[in-house]
Amino acid sequence: KTTTKGGGEQNLTVALRIRPLNEDENYNGAKSIAHKVQAKMVVLMDPMEDHDDVLRANRSREKQFVFDCTFDSNALQDEVYKNTTRSLLPNIINGYNATVFAYGATGAGKTYTMLGTDDEPGIMARGLNDLFVEMDRTKEEMKYKVSMSYLEIYNEMIRDLLNPSSGILDLREDAKGGVQVAGLSEVTTRSTNEVMDMLFQGNKERTQEPTAANKTSSRSHAVLQVIVKQQNRVRNTVQEVRVGKLFMVDLAGSERAASTHNRGKRMVEGAHINRSLLALGNCINALSDKNGHKYINYRDSKLTRLLKDALGGNCKTVMIAHISPASSQFEESRNTLVYADRAKHI
Ligand code: ADP
Ligand code: MG
Repeated sequence: KTTTKGGGEQNLTVALRIRPLNEDENYNGAKSIAHKVQAKMVVLMDPMEDHDDVLRANRSREKQFVFDCTFDSNALQDEVYKNTTRSLLPNIINGYNATVFAYGATGAGKTYTMLGTDDEPGIMARGLNDLFVEMDRTKEEMKYKVSMSYLEIYNEMIRDLLNPSSGILDLREDAKGGVQVAGLSEVTTRSTNEVMDMLFQGNKERTQEPTAANKTSSRSHAVLQVIVKQQNRVRNTVQEVRVGKLFMVDLAGSERAASTHNRGKRMVEGAHINRSLLALGNCINALSDKNGHKYINYRDSKLTRLLKDALGGNCKTVMIAHISPASSQFEESRNTLVYADRAKHI
């Protein structure tokens, strides 16, 4: 089922963000080959083909990609946040689950979108800030408890980014089919600044190791889990506690193990990363199947097991795919566009 009871809104949103050319790319004279040409349409030009003008490429169908929304290199953090994530918050407060994840090759802008910088905070901080504001606004009628955890999945192993010394943690399923990470620390702050500090600190703990293709690349999936418990403040009656979960996920770089000339350890890593991304892609794909006939196999990877109760059903899922516009990144950008296109709700 792809619609909610309420009003025919779709449960899967696929967005695309094109980052600006960076200094190195500009310095090396890289051409910009990815352009937003309409509100929802992106065109990718093959740098090996001779077409300087966007209009011509625009006419050749196989190079056009349409998404629910697209952001070009001028898009501001707030615009991306408001068009992808903000509308999920009322659902979370009402006890539904949702997932936002950033997909793309290393260097395409995933961490910028999710975490951002001190001056330009990303979706994680903006989402939490709005959640705090909303909880404050309704505090007379409602009782809230909010907790946050930040973890990474690296080679199918889970580590607590807020308490790395706790080592490798287990994923456990309780009798009701709920999924929990045993021993994961939970933070209950309501200060957006504290959240930002915590996330930046946690991000430094992510497993980043050199590969042949890039000096450093995130080889892990970083998962921010926000749990909101809400209860009406009505005296003398037993009020049900609603629990809503929001997952915000900065995925590992999607570049293929094969294309980075990795050997040994790196290759195993690549296989693990692809296993999670593949499993996630399959789940998303099944979700976007209108007839709902496809079987969703969450058990295929740690990532999909963890997200199990926040994908599908009444849950909203937002995928923000990221690409560099540089001609040198053509292959990666095309792979990402194809992956995102395949995931797309039709
Ligand atoms: P990823 O997490 O996908 O590997 P990053 O988010 O780290 O990529 O982005 C790579 C570099 O490009 C960083 O220096 C980042 O600050 C910059 N960058 C990415 N997206 C944007 C953007 N939309 N605007 C400005 N700078 C960006
Ligand atoms: Mg990153």
